[in-house]
Amino acid sequence: MPIYEYWCEDCRRAFSSYRPGFSSSLPPCHHCSNTGVRRVFSTFSVQRTYRDTYQDILSDRQLTQGMMRNDPRALAEWSKKMSSGEKCAPEYEEMTERMERGEWPADQIEHKRRQMVE
Ligand SMILES: [Zn+2]
Repeated sequence: MPIYEYWCEDCRRAFSSYRPGFSSSLPPCHHCSNTGVRRVFSTFSVQRTYRDTYQDILSDRQLTQGMMRNDPRALAEWSKKMSSGEKCAPEYEEMTERMERGEWPADQIEHKRRQMVE
């Protein structure tokens, strides 16, 4: 069964949860039971704690503004920060390269994630 990573908007903490499938409904927060959680990328290896990583990202104004505009380059940068320099799978490196060129391969990401969880 796949493990997904979630981020609680309320207490701003991350947690992992087993879910039977990709389309399963979101679980309540493990810390505060808030239901306002969102799924975060679990395919990028995370070496640092979420707290550190998110604070790092949130302190980068250019990056957060780019992400709010759904700028693929900002997301590529974000994925690099999340992976903390760890080597990603080749297909993710390719995706990151495409995002850095300003392309937006969301469909490919979704497709790859489905392949990985099934
Ligand atoms: Zn919470």
